[in-house]
Amino acid sequence: MVDLSSQYEKVKPSIDRAILDVIDKAQFINGQEVSSFQKDLEDYLNVKHVIPCANGTDALQIAMMALGLKPDDEVITPSFTYIATTEVIALLGLKPVFVEVDKDTFCIDVNEIEKAITSKTKAIVPVHLYGQAANMNAIMEIASKHNLFVIEDNAQAIGSDYHLTNGSVQKTGTIGHIGCTSFFPSKNLGCYGDGGAIFTNDSDLAQKIKMIANHGQSKKYYHDVVGCNSRLDSIQAAVLRIKLRQLDNYIDARRKVASIYDAAFAPISGVQIPFRSDDSKHVFHQYTLILDNHDRDGLCNFLAERDIPSMIYYPIPAHRQKMFSDFGSADTHLPVTDWLTKRVISLPIHTEMQDEQLDYITNSVKEFLNN
Ligand SMILES: *Cc1c(COP(=O)(O)O)cnc(C)c1O
Repeated sequence: MVDLSSQYEKVKPSIDRAILDVIDKAQFINGQEVSSFQKDLEDYLNVKHVIPCANGTDALQIAMMALGLKPDDEVITPSFTYIATTEVIALLGLKPVFVEVDKDTFCIDVNEIEKAITSKTKAIVPVHLYGQAANMNAIMEIASKHNLFVIEDNAQAIGSDYHLTNGSVQKTGTIGHIGCTSFFPSKNLGCYGDGGAIFTNDSDLAQKIKMIANHGQSKKYYHDVVGCNSRLDSIQAAVLRIKLRQLDNYIDARRKVASIYDAAFAPISGVQIPFRSDDSKHVFHQYTLILDNHDRDGLCNFLAERDIPSMIYYPIPAHRQKMFSDFGSADTHLPVTDWLTKRVISLPIHTEMQDEQLDYITNSVKEFLNN
């Protein structure tokens, strides 16, 4: 699905030098590279505070801990997402309330959010799935009307621009009260191990987030709140500083692949190519088709026989996971989510795709779907 080796080859000298430099200095934890990357990312995102942490799941957990929610408080989130988004809600003793997604954007359906709001609702966690931003204009309006926090799960959309109704353009992840991302190697901005970050323009929240990520420590050996230990290590920060300079090029390369796929698949009946909202720049973490009246799993097998990887993101939605059976969430009526889990298929997309690979993939997909 990705080709991280070819991508590395292109930046190998600078990456190798940066990694060796960290080893030479022996500043493995909280080194200079971490604070430099933090500043670089603040500049790139145009956000006041970036707090690096150990992974994207921690980022979501720490963000939620910083809101000071109480047990049984409710958090609204889509069911059609990676498990991490919803898992941390339950881990913190909060109640995930699953809301339907929009069939076009794959993101939370803003028309369904208000129906799910109760007196216990405290936050909304939209997910910018596959690199397409959720409808943040509507979400921020609903949140402000009902006095709710918004935590953006930006793990799949880092670098995406979003057009706000007030005319300004902001990066996804910096629009809600807190944004979270992952630097898992296959993400659009990936490191060479685990990594994550939390963003906010709210200085009080930033202070709390920093404390929570560092054992609740306010000053050395003074621990004011229960926190955790979640750090980005210096080697990962050094890798990320170099790759951040390439992020816009990486996004362009992904968008180019998506356009080629679009042109190849749009004419096939029963195939829905990814929707591109006018409000945001799709950064194509995944290229995902909806196949209606086609044998989706047959296509997966057909492609596998030709050594073409494909993936189903995600085959089982959160509300149908055993993990949440105590919440009775399997009874939640989410027909679009269920419909999508049976029809989506994601094709290989990355920054180093060759024309011959694209020809081979598009011809193979067309051969199966046109028969
Ligand atoms: C990858 C991902 C995460 C979790 O990130 P990790 O770094 O793997 O913990 C959370 N949410 C979404 C939508 C993701 O894609």
